[in-house]
Amino acid sequence: MKHVVIIGGGIVGLATAYQAKLKFPDLKITILEKEATLAAHQTGHNSGVIHSGIYYKPGSLKATNCLRGYRMLLDFCRNHQIPYELCGKIIVATKQNELEALDALYQKGIENGLEGLKYLDSKEIKYYEPAATGIKGLFVPQTGIVAYRQLTKVLGEVFLNMKHTAIKTQAEVVDFKRIKDAIEVVLKNGESIHAHTIVNCAGLYCDKVAKMAGEPLNIKIIPFRGEYYTIKPEKAHLVKSLIYPVPDSNFPFLGVHFTRRITGEIEAGPNAVFAFRREGYSKTSFHLGEFLESICWRGFQKVAFKYWKTGIGEYYRSYSKQAFTKALQKLLPDIQSDDLIPAASGVRAQAVDSQGNLLDDFYIQQGNGFIHVLNAPSPAATSSLSIGLTIAEKLTGC
Ligand SMILES: Cc1cc2nc3c(=O)[nH]c(=O)nc-3n(C[C@H](O)[C@H](O)[C@H](O)COP(=O)(O)OP(=O)(O)OC[C@H]3O[C@@H](n4cnc5c(N)ncnc54)[C@H](O)[C@@H]3O)c2cc1C
Repeated sequence: MKHVVIIGGGIVGLATAYQAKLKFPDLKITILEKEATLAAHQTGHNSGVIHSGIYYKPGSLKATNCLRGYRMLLDFCRNHQIPYELCGKIIVATKQNELEALDALYQKGIENGLEGLKYLDSKEIKYYEPAATGIKGLFVPQTGIVAYRQLTKVLGEVFLNMKHTAIKTQAEVVDFKRIKDAIEVVLKNGESIHAHTIVNCAGLYCDKVAKMAGEPLNIKIIPFRGEYYTIKPEKAHLVKSLIYPVPDSNFPFLGVHFTRRITGEIEAGPNAVFAFRREGYSKTSFHLGEFLESICWRGFQKVAFKYWKTGIGEYYRSYSKQAFTKALQKLLPDIQSDDLIPAASGVRAQAVDSQGNLLDDFYIQQGNGFIHVLNAPSPAATSSLSIGLTIAEKLTGC
């Protein structure tokens, strides 16, 4: 029996395992996760938004997988009684110079097939979000919220109910050895597992795993921490659902916003600062080797040179609650610094190439018995079941 090993127990790994099993019921599939639980990193620390697809270049992997993944995700939630809500969101322009970008978003949304998109004037913004302010906005009805940690857990349960499946936690992959017709996957605890094909869904460590496999790479993962605040319950009424700014096309993941979680809490943030370790969730998290590796990478140096001003702004907001509040007040003038309680953070795995370009689209590389998912930032959680199907299709004949 052919054996596929999937490295990484985040939502992309789980969705891949599930789709591969549906497509090839006779395959043996094992998921290896280094932590004790699933969804311990990006998947368990994200904003919980089901993205509509409005932001992504028509025809890109992000657009196609987000649109297809959106439908698959809603079906999966309905079939497995996972709570979600399509609460919609508004994207708000607060300055004249954002109007062109707002129009470009509207056009992208239309090209991506979104229905019911609606321009809002400043009064109509208040119909959806009475406390928000802006000169023009867009209402996106498709956007929703869900708990991705829970979704991943259910994916795991469904996967384990299928034949010839296994999930091993506390199973960190540290090496690969080529043997005759297979690959030996070596774990940190000394165990080894034979596989015919390996799918690398290791998130923040996907480049390391690819390197371990001998894959030629022109990218490195640079970790960016996103820090959040929760709005104290007495002020939660200020936000009905999701309020976003018009994104900067150079940094679509920048721009603090308000998100209602499926649990009802309102989250504000995140910013994005370079993290001094890949799984560095606090300001003091530091790993000398990982830090040096990032800053010595030519690609990172070029990013730092190009965007140092933006970076300083993000650090300033990281250390100054006043500055963070000020950024939020552009969208919601009534919010005050005292209304914000520090909350959890998440670290994004952002692939950067040697020329200092932040890879925008999803990126998968295949060869020598391996499939490596090398860039799966947001909206990869929304898109996960579609990314999983794309990878499963690559397993034909494995
Ligand atoms: C702050 C933040 C907010 C976001 N918000 C959203 C959102 O609202 N909506 C959305 O669609 N997307 C969002 N995203 C993006 C989304 O969360 C990620 O794209 C997605 O979770 C990636 O899943 P993954 O499985 O690739 O990675 P991960 O969830 O990071 O999983 C990778 C797993 O691999 C394991 N691993 C690593 N190395 C090894 C090894 N050597 N051996 C074994 N296991 C290993 C890790 O422990 C980890 O569990 C957000 C991301 C962040 C960080």
